[in-house]
Amino acid sequence: MPPESPYPMISIEAALAIIQREIQPLASVTLPFQEALGHVLAEDIFANEPMPPFAASSVDGYAVVARDGPGLRQLVGDQAAGYIADVKIEPGTAARVTTGAPVPVGADAVVMVEETEASDGRVDILANHIKSGANIRPIGQDIETGQLVLAKGTVLGPAELGLLGTVGKARVTVYRRPTVAVMSTGDEIVEPHEAPQPGQIRDANRFTLMGVVRQTGAEVLDLGIVRDKAGSLEETIERGLAEADALLTSGGVSMGQLDLVKPYLASRGTVHFGRVNTKPGKPVTFATVDGKPCFAMPGFPVSALVSFEVFVRPALLKMAGHSQIYRPREKAILDHHFKHNAARTEFQRVILTRQPDGTLRASSTGFQGSGRLLSMSGANGLVILPHGHDDFEAGSVVDALLIDRVDTDMALESTLFQGI
Ligand code: AMP
Ligand code: MG
Repeated sequence: MPPESPYPMISIEAALAIIQREIQPLASVTLPFQEALGHVLAEDIFANEPMPPFAASSVDGYAVVARDGPGLRQLVGDQAAGYIADVKIEPGTAARVTTGAPVPVGADAVVMVEETEASDGRVDILANHIKSGANIRPIGQDIETGQLVLAKGTVLGPAELGLLGTVGKARVTVYRRPTVAVMSTGDEIVEPHEAPQPGQIRDANRFTLMGVVRQTGAEVLDLGIVRDKAGSLEETIERGLAEADALLTSGGVSMGQLDLVKPYLASRGTVHFGRVNTKPGKPVTFATVDGKPCFAMPGFPVSALVSFEVFVRPALLKMAGHSQIYRPREKAILDHHFKHNAARTEFQRVILTRQPDGTLRASSTGFQGSGRLLSMSGANGLVILPHGHDDFEAGSVVDALLIDRVDTDMALESTLFQGI
């Protein structure tokens, strides 16, 4: 009898559902708002004041009484931005104002400087028609008092930081972003600066995994390379659990007698699954220990990275409070024949290109071996070739996950900015 994994083979959907069930957002923290870029808001933000807070000129020009119409006006003062000048506009008079200046009392329009001519103490209004309210931003035009400016769950980008500044929200409550402890395992793995001895190879996985962890916005704790020895493996896993919010390992989850990661996680907590009907990444493992998620990726570099994409990335985003945790999924037309084994659902690495008619086309990145990280380099999509179906002919339509920016076919690109 060949050895059997003690873990039942579950579907990708079932694995994702288990991760969803087990993982919750981390507690919130309050930060100076400038440090909150990329965080998810854990509170609603309301405006306590209107924006603009006073009627403000939107141009450099002259504040006037609109119904005076065109013609000469007596200049009665200056009102620059930043204070309230002692000027009052009456019919037949005007005051010079700058952009952002409070509109002087009595004025109901501002004429832009380009439509005027000033000469000793007077200004000639050349504009033919002046509408009451022209070039004035009324109080609360942009934000009203009491308005919900940013809702809980919003991801804070540059515009949102500006809004927090505008409403004076100096400290903001956001979800904490996870720190993820990352390690490689294997007696054969050495550091990139080392010369591999016979039988050894340099580490790839720690660098791809630390990279994708950081791309989610999470922090990394680098645990280095761990040998396939019970003592050192346990010690390093314990350090990760003590110092980080989640553990991410690669290697050591297959069926070899030195594959010690699963047994140790099982001894310390609960292994929720240890085998998924997916290619690459069948032995991908998810456990929780002391309430902390542990993800054990297979050792082959493509398996590690694709497993991260499918199972770990959504989990880390959920921990950080994101509600949109999955990659966009769209139909794609296969550019050529794709070989596929019907036994497992397979994620093949492709280059997706948007066609002028809006459809996506998928072209393989070449040999899809689990060790060939080059198949992932430059890929911006994973096509999902479902189990129960063998090879796909050119022109077949399949689902694709968009894992990076999708470029538009050149023909469309050249038309993108036309008519703007
Ligand atoms: P394992 O899952 O430990 O059985 O490893 C599967 C394959 O992936 C083996 O050929 C390993 O040498 C290789 N491998 C494991 N870890 C790494 C790593 N960190 N970087 C590059 N290759 C690795
Ligand atoms: Mg190994």
